[in-house]
Amino acid sequence: MLKQFALLILAVLAATSVLAARNEFRPKAEKVVDNVYSLMGPLGQRSADNDGLNADFGFIVTPRGVILIDSGASRLGAGKIVAAIARVTDKPVRWVINTGSQDHRWLGNDYFASKGAEVIAMSRTAATQAQYAGQHMQGLERFLGERLKGTRPRPASRTLDGNEATLELGGETFMLSYTDAHFPGDIWIWLPKHSVMFSGDLIFVDRLLGVLPWSSVKNGQKAFRALAALKPAHIVPGHGRVCDLERAQRETGDYYDFLASKVGAAAQNMEPMDATLDRYADLPAFSHLENYDSLHRANMNRAFTEFESQ
Ligand SMILES: [Zn+2]
Repeated sequence: MLKQFALLILAVLAATSVLAARNEFRPKAEKVVDNVYSLMGPLGQRSADNDGLNADFGFIVTPRGVILIDSGASRLGAGKIVAAIARVTDKPVRWVINTGSQDHRWLGNDYFASKGAEVIAMSRTAATQAQYAGQHMQGLERFLGERLKGTRPRPASRTLDGNEATLELGGETFMLSYTDAHFPGDIWIWLPKHSVMFSGDLIFVDRLLGVLPWSSVKNGQKAFRALAALKPAHIVPGHGRVCDLERAQRETGDYYDFLASKVGAAAQNMEPMDATLDRYADLPAFSHLENYDSLHRANMNRAFTEFESQ
């Protein structure tokens, strides 16, 4: 009996030391302007420690409650977002707006909806969420394992038609517009009164953007130019630190321009792909960005394919 008890104590000690050793990521709210906050995620891959919060989120505090931009990748991730908000305000999250349909943009929706929040997205975003839900849950399980438990995909229930939409919530104005760059159905959310842009996955800073098989470089270039025309004073990017337009131009806008004007042009001139990718393998303007080594060649490859097929 005593021996069993001793073993139990040992097991408990082992479990707590494992827990203590885990370097768990918890987002921290940073003020962008009065009542508008960002929550920046780590630049690397999804993991059990970051609960898939490897992206940027944000929230706006109004007298009627909090509006959250994107809900995280899981139930536990959503809980971490709530904890970060609670350090700023005791108002509840009353609305969630999704900027996209990739896992970390919306798989926390169910958590917030079950607590009474209204979840809003553009119609095509919500449709893409439903379409990719199974695939994203499977992919996430590889990274989050047990910690994904209890997460249920719940696409946004209030959907907005048209290519652009304006929302009034809690006295704030939100202008939503499709970008369709990184992922189909991606949008930006523009707060004209504050000159704050939540760009969603259109803008990456500090790390190189990824061109995925379902991304569009053409849309990215076009959307970035439209965003720049709004001259936002503050940008909360999809990934990386809050920045100004100049930095977003250097680290995202210029890269889309490079992909379109060099790689895309070579594809349209029917130049060989390998030689083109070799020629632009080393780009000092972007090579300092994180993930450059793992993404740049694949990005060019996909850009080439997109331009070749038109
Ligand atoms: Zn992302």
